[in-house]
Amino acid sequence: MLPIELNKRQELILQIVKDNGPITGENIADRLNLTRATLRPDLAILTMAGYLDARPRVGYFYTGKTGSQLLTEKIKKLQVKDYQSIPVVVDENVSVYDAICTMFLEDVGTLFVVNKEALLVGVLSRKDLLRASLGKQELTTIPVNIIMTRMPNITVCKKEDLMIDVAVRLIEKQIDAVPVTKETDKGLEVVGRLTKTNMTKVLVDLGHDEMF
Ligand code: ADP
Repeated sequence: MLPIELNKRQELILQIVKDNGPITGENIADRLNLTRATLRPDLAILTMAGYLDARPRVGYFYTGKTGSQLLTEKIKKLQVKDYQSIPVVVDENVSVYDAICTMFLEDVGTLFVVNKEALLVGVLSRKDLLRASLGKQELTTIPVNIIMTRMPNITVCKKEDLMIDVAVRLIEKQIDAVPVTKETDKGLEVVGRLTKTNMTKVLVDLGHDEMF
């Protein structure tokens, strides 16, 4: 839990600990004319959120971290595995026409292209497919491997990667999605999809204070 806004009592506790810490829970309770039991949930919240730290037999002390510092720390811990979506892959030999159908049917903006061994070989974006559709080519006969962005020029991520690092990659490379991959002896297996929509989910969770 990371309450962006603390309630009055929590603010008060924080001030008492700031001024008097290290201080025991009982001592704080006395100063507020409350029982230790009444105070317990607030102390738990303040400790879990990182505003306070508790040492056995010493008491509570103020960590000195501001709300925004704590928020930044939490954001920097968010990992791809908590936000990734299911990947949609197509074989490198399917036609551009079939890829367009897959994109509509699966309702995604990026397709990952794999070879016979199910290893990542390319990426197809909406604009790649639109571009291919502009010419007078026969879309049912051109395989996607002709028009895709191919390895080794593909930006990928791993499920242990930090969301913040992937967000930087999406912005720097000006792309909408990256495949979440797993390294094998033969190459990269596609295990997930991380898109700008997943990034937006982080923002929504943050706004709703649901991520902690
Ligand atoms: P769109 O082209 O629909 O705007 P993107 O911005 O994601 O979508 O793609 C821009 C270009 O970058 C396309 O040519 C696409 O093949 C390529 N691309 C998309 N994702 C990746 C990626 N993860 N790694 C490398 N290239 C990518």
